[in-house]
Formats: sequence, C-alpha cells, structure tokens
Amino acid sequence: MKIREGRRNAALKASVNGSETSRNGKPDTVKQIEWKYSRSVEDPKHIKLDEKYDLYIGGKRVRTRKYFKTIDPSNEKILAEVAYASDEDVNRAVTAAKTAYEKHWSKTSPKERAKYIFRIARIMQEKAREFAVIETMNGGKPIRESKSVDVPLSIAHFFYYAGWADKLDLAFPGNKISPVGVAGQIIPWNFPLLMAAWKIAPALACGNTVVIKSAETTPLTLYKLAEVIEEAGLPPGVVNIISGDGRTGATLVNHPKVNKIAFTGSTEVGKIIMRQTAGTNKRLTLELGGKAANIIFEDAPIDAAVEGIINGIYFNQGHVCCAGSRLLVQESIHDAVVKKLKHRMKNLRVGDPLDKNTDVGAINSRVQLDKIRELVASGIDEGAVIHQCECTLPEKGFWFRPTFFTGVAQSNRIANEEIFGPVLSILTFRTPQEAVEKANNTCYGLSAGVWTDKGSKIFKVLSKIRAGVVWSNTFNKFNPASPFGGYKESGFGREGGRHGLTPYLNIES
Ligand code: NAP
Ligand code: MG
Repeated sequence: MKIREGRRNAALKASVNGSETSRNGKPDTVKQIEWKYSRSVEDPKHIKLDEKYDLYIGGKRVRTRKYFKTIDPSNEKILAEVAYASDEDVNRAVTAAKTAYEKHWSKTSPKERAKYIFRIARIMQEKAREFAVIETMNGGKPIRESKSVDVPLSIAHFFYYAGWADKLDLAFPGNKISPVGVAGQIIPWNFPLLMAAWKIAPALACGNTVVIKSAETTPLTLYKLAEVIEEAGLPPGVVNIISGDGRTGATLVNHPKVNKIAFTGSTEVGKIIMRQTAGTNKRLTLELGGKAANIIFEDAPIDAAVEGIINGIYFNQGHVCCAGSRLLVQESIHDAVVKKLKHRMKNLRVGDPLDKNTDVGAINSRVQLDKIRELVASGIDEGAVIHQCECTLPEKGFWFRPTFFTGVAQSNRIANEEIFGPVLSILTFRTPQEAVEKANNTCYGLSAGVWTDKGSKIFKVLSKIRAGVVWSNTFNKFNPASPFGGYKESGFGREGGRHGLTPYLNIES
C-alpha cells in the first residue's frame, strides 16, 4: 500500500511540476506565452437570496419541520437554508398536482397553455442575470458558462415547447393523444436549471402537472424558478417544487398518484427506480450516466480537435453526463495531440467561478471530489501516466486540477467508470474499425464525437456507434429541437425535440 501511495505522490508531483517527458524521452519544448488576466468578478450584490427557502406547493410557500444548509462549493460559505420535504410534504405536493390537473390544467386549452409557457420563458429572460449568478454560486460552475449555456438554453427550452403546446395534433397526426397526468421529476446537480427546463417545459406543453425535486446540493435556482412560475400566473399546483435528498426522490417515485417518472441522474439510482416502478402503471424515462468516446482521426484539423477535447471534458468541470471522457486518438497523431493538449491546458484558468475569465470552476461537492480523487488514484495505481494543469488552486472549497491520463488500457477503471470530473483518459487506435469497437466497448451509450476531414468517414463511423447523441467536428452542443438520451445503461427515452413530447402523452392510433 505504501509503495502504491509513494508512486501516486511521485506521479502527481511530476505531473504538476510539468516535468514529464514526451514519449521519445526528450523534454517537452513547446514555448509558453504567459497570459495575464485582471480579475473580472461578477458582483453578486444584485442577487437577493432568502435566508430560508420553503417548499413551493399548490402555489404557496409551505413550511416544513426540517431545513438543511446549502453552500457555495467554491468557498464553502453557507448561502441559505432549504426545506427538506418529508413524506407528508411529498404527498401534499402530489395531491396539489393531481388537483391542479383535474381542476385546471386538463381543462386549459392548448393555446392558453402555450401562453403560460411562453410567459415563463419571457420572465426568465428578464431575470437571466440573477439565474446565472445563483446557478454559479450554488453549483460552482463558471459564470461564463451559466450565462452563455445554462440560462439561455433553459429559456430556449421553454420557448420551444411553448410552440408545441397547440400543435400536438400535428406532431402525431392520425393519433388520439392525451396527457399522462401527474409527472414526478427528479434532477441532478450538474445542470439544475437546465434539467428542470428539459422536464417541466414538455410536461406542461402536453397538459401534465408537475412535482419536481431538485438535487440536494443545488436547490436554489429551482426556487428562483418558483418565483417566475408565480409571476407567470400559472394556476396553483400546476408546478410544485420540492427539495430534499435521495429519500425525498424515492418517496416521489413510489407515490401511487404519480403517473410518470422522469429521472436524470446516476445509473445506480436509475436501476433502483426501474425496479421500483416495475409492475406499476407508471411511465418512466431515465437519463443516466455516460463514458463517451471522442474519436480523433489523423486527418482531423488538430487545433480545432484540441479545442473540442477541452470543451468535451473540462466544460462544467467534467460534471457532464455526455462528456467526452474517453479520448480515442489515432496512433500516428497521438504524440502531436498530447503535446498540443498540454500546451492548451497551461492556459486554462481555474478558480473563482464568479470571475468572467474562469474556464474551470469548483467541484460541486466534497462527496464528488472524493469520488474523483479515488478514481484518479486508481488510474495511477493501474499504471496510466497522469498529466495535470499547473494552476494554483484556491485554499477553500472543492477543487480538482484539469487532468488527463495517457497510456490508459481498456481494462483500467478510468477507461470504464464515469469519473464525472475534469479527468480525461486517452487511448489509441489504428483503424476506423478498431475505433468503433473501442468506442462501443462500454456499458454506456449516451454520446460520441468524431473528428475527421472526411464527410464519408463521419457517416460511416458514427452510424456504427451505439450512442444516443453524436457530434462531428464539434462536441457538447445542445439545442432544444434536438432529442437527447441514451442506449444501454445510459437509460431510455428522449428529452428535447418532438421526441421529447412522447413520454408525456398517451398516444393511441
Ligand atoms: P444521483 O445520485 O443519481 O441523483 C440524481 C437525483 O436523484 C438527485 O436529485 C438525487 O437526490 C435523487 N436520488 C438519489 N437517490 C434516489 C432514489 N433512491 N430515488 C429517487 N431519487 C433519488 O446522481 P447525481 O450524483 O446527483 O448526478 C450525477 C449522475 O447523474 C452522473 O452519473 C451523471 O452521468 C448523471 N447525469 C445524467 C444526465 C443525463 O441526461 N443522462 C444528466 C446529468 C447527470 P439527492 O441529490 O438529493 O441525493
Ligand atoms: Mg447523489
């Protein structure tokens, strides 16, 4: 054990000091320009957080017995206290949703439903800056990303599904369609607002009411959304927002009056939910984990591909289910890609998530940080070579250096298990066939990317990869009109696009 730890520490030290040598034994000689940035911090003073957040049930703030603290993971400061929904509270929320469904929402015309959803989108636009700052403070993600991705994309989902609400007959011509009823929705901590939008917008458009549970570490933007829903004047109980932990989620899943469960989270919990809903009449969609292959062919535009690698794995600290966490590089260009990647990583700015210059923010929680550390340690133990950013990390909060491993074997844990952090595993291949085999050699099937100059190769390779979302010469691009979802242990069902309507409708031909 001691020898292992010694090896781990030596490997980490060498990589952080940048003293690793290239494969031919010569020192890395890429000349580094030092970019200096002045800090440009978003002042959070314009944000007003409550000291205490109650549950949002039946259009009212509902107090409960227990509250828990929610923090800013970049400095561990307490931001607010948040209600922990008990079994009774979950029951109250589901009852409110059921009543709202029967009394109001099922009787609201599709055109009126569209107006409400449209209004939600418009009010969110007005509060976009507040949403971005709260998302960053509660989640640890860079403000640059919450401003340019999380918030606008969430709003776009509401706009998009507002457009579908009165066109459902056109979406499924010749079929008789009806809403499912009460949707229980459970979301993770990596994209709280966006995941809420992915779930709430199609559910409302199709005429369902909602009980949504935020993840334990990131409840705040959902309570901000409650304000928007209130302002938009939705009938009470159409959207109910609760917070708590896994137990709260389980109570929602098991509630007999819930007609549909939409879950995004880990494969482990997805399997539990599948067992619990088996034999019931509940509809189910699961968006689970991933270990996506990002494949770089030797004819790819390498500089663009390196940017794609960076975006694929370091976007949102790698807390992305569809992250390009397994890099498959054609052997002939391996050394060139690694050299450019090292060079590029030296310019990654890691630190204060509220600084507009920051590229990589804080890890969402201590639990997640421990999980990342454990898997990285296993990579070193199993003989892969670690390379890390040389940046200085803040003293408080949860941080992990952007990292990649070379010399990764397919059997290594870091090549198979989802790390859900800023850690990339690099493997090589020689032929397109080998690339496809390696890409598909996973229990997951959520996303994949291919980088090549040849259009024919893009189609040939991507058509053989078993993944729900594929990108060519880009990565991590999202659009509300484009369906998202997985194969195999990445789950089933699609969110986004016309496909995203089907889980929320009974469709009879
Ligand atoms: P998680 O532990 O599965 O939690 C997801 C959500 O489920 C949270 O709200 C969690 O509550 C709740 N939950 C926990 N145990 C539950 C249970 N027994 N019954 C019902 N709900 C339960 O996942 P996570 O750690 O938050 O998120 C990371 C994982 O999500 C990764 O594996 C990632 O790949 C996956 N993910 C997938 C997608 C996708 O679209 N495919 C998107 C994002 C994330 P608490 O947080 O309160 O414990
Ligand atoms: Mg969890």
